[in-house]
This record gives sequence, C-alpha cells and structure tokens, in this order.
Amino acid sequence: MSLLRNVIRCLLVQQREAHVVNNKFIPKAEPACDLDIYNLKNFLLTNNRILVLTGAGVSTESGIPDYRSEGVGLYARSDNRPVQYNDFVKSESIRQRYWARNYAGWSVFSSFLPNLCHKTLRRWEITGKVHWLVTQNVDALHIKAGSIKLTELHGSAHRVMCMSCDDKMSREQLQNLIGQHNPMWQAKSVDMAPDGDVQLTTEQVQGFKIPQCPNCGGALKPEIIFFGDNVPKPTVNFVFKKVKEADAVLILGSSLEVYSGFRFVNAAHTQKKPIAIVNIGPTRADNLASLKVSAKCSDVLQRLEL
Ligand SMILES: [Zn+2]
Repeated sequence: MSLLRNVIRCLLVQQREAHVVNNKFIPKAEPACDLDIYNLKNFLLTNNRILVLTGAGVSTESGIPDYRSEGVGLYARSDNRPVQYNDFVKSESIRQRYWARNYAGWSVFSSFLPNLCHKTLRRWEITGKVHWLVTQNVDALHIKAGSIKLTELHGSAHRVMCMSCDDKMSREQLQNLIGQHNPMWQAKSVDMAPDGDVQLTTEQVQGFKIPQCPNCGGALKPEIIFFGDNVPKPTVNFVFKKVKEADAVLILGSSLEVYSGFRFVNAAHTQKKPIAIVNIGPTRADNLASLKVSAKCSDVLQRLEL
C-alpha cells in the first residue's frame, strides 16, 4: 500500500512540475470575455475554409519559449540572440558553436509534446475546417499532432541539409553522428531558445567536432530559415495560393513582427477576407483584423467547443 501511495505522490509531484514548466514562458493575460468567444465561434462557423497561421504563442504552452513576449520571451530574459544566416554560412567557428549548443539542447528540445492548440488544429483539419495550416515554428509540434495540410514556413529543426549537395538527413541521425565524433564531450544547459539553442561557455564549445556531410564532405545546416535568410520563393507562392483559396484567415499566437508571415495576412486583407487574431499582446496586423482576442490560445480554443 505504501508503495502505491509513493507512486501516486510521485505522479502528482511530476504533474505539478509539468504544469509549472508549461506555464513558464506564457505571458500574463486575462481570460477572454464571453463576447470574444462568441464572436470567434461565429467567425469559425460562418467561414468554411480557414487558413490558420501559428506562431511561437502556441508552442509556449508546450514549454518552448518565444523570442519577443514581454518579460518571458528570450529577448527579455537574456542577451542570447539567434544566429544570422550569413554568419552561419561564412564562419566555421559559428557553426561549431551552433551545433555544440544545439547538440546539448536536443534531448530536451526534441521531447516537447503537442498541446491542446496543436491537437485542436489537427481535429479541424480532419473535419475540413482548416483549409491549410502555416506555422512559423520550427519545433515540429504540428507534425507530432498529426497535421498533414501544413507548411512549415521557417523550416524545421528536426531536419538537416548539406549546404553543398543539398543532401538531407533527420536531426536524430545527426545527433548519432555528432555523438560518434564527440564520444567524450558532455555539456548540459537548461536555458533554451525557440529553435533548441542553449547557452554554453566558450570553454564548453572548444573541442567540439562538427561532422561533415557523409555524401560530399560539405557543411551541415538545420533545415531552418535563419534570421537574415529568405523563405524559398516556391513556398511563398504556394502559401499565397492557399490564402487565395481560403475564405478567412485565423492567426494564433503570433505578433506577426516578422514580414515572412505578415505578408500573407496583408494579402488576405487586400482580398477582403475576414481576419481573426488570438494573441497575448499587440500584433502588427491588429488594424487589419476584424476580430482580435488578447488571451491564451489554448484557453480560447478550449472554450469554442467546436
Ligand atoms: Zn553534401
């Protein structure tokens, strides 16, 4: 009996800790009012084919921080900044630092799980409500939730490509390859960025060996659109086409600060399509939206009962 009691107590503690972790990176917000929920439900019932655009705000509820949220985003908490595309391409020492930090953070970053938002969007995909899903996140949580009609606008941290021959491998394969090249290297850090980057000291990075492309010996890069790089033109055109096919656009958990996502909302507005936004805090498209709800995405989606 006492063993059972201990197991139950452990589970309760774990559950409480998981709850604390999952709320750590969510900015404070009041719950949405009933009128907001009513209006959003109406928006979803009157528009059949919805293009949904998600940002970091849907992943913070799984325990992954965002960049820009007041007080809790990466920019507010540290001087740590994401790598710039040109620096990564040009400098081997920057690639060494990037992969060492990414390697150290991978076991935690790859273990994050989809939350109610990802699961709801998958359900809406099955019922046909979601015409297409576009995410700015690189954490693959929509794929883990089963979404198929999906464009990962900024790529995925779960895939790796060669910058010379364009050969691909999974991030998991690279993890094994890195392990083989660095059998004695060990470092752990808990301060994580939205792309899985963690803080390490210069000493920790020294001696870290980056594997090269097994096919041609070229340098490897995650299949992520880094800051300073552009989303490939065919992807942009494809999403513009999906916006055109859609009846309305719903934005979840994004401030739309980055132009790569904002341009689609702008296009929808030009085409006179209704736009709804659920995001804690202001967004770049607030003046284009017919409906704005400033609240936590999962709370809002849960109350829609659709
Ligand atoms: Zn190659």
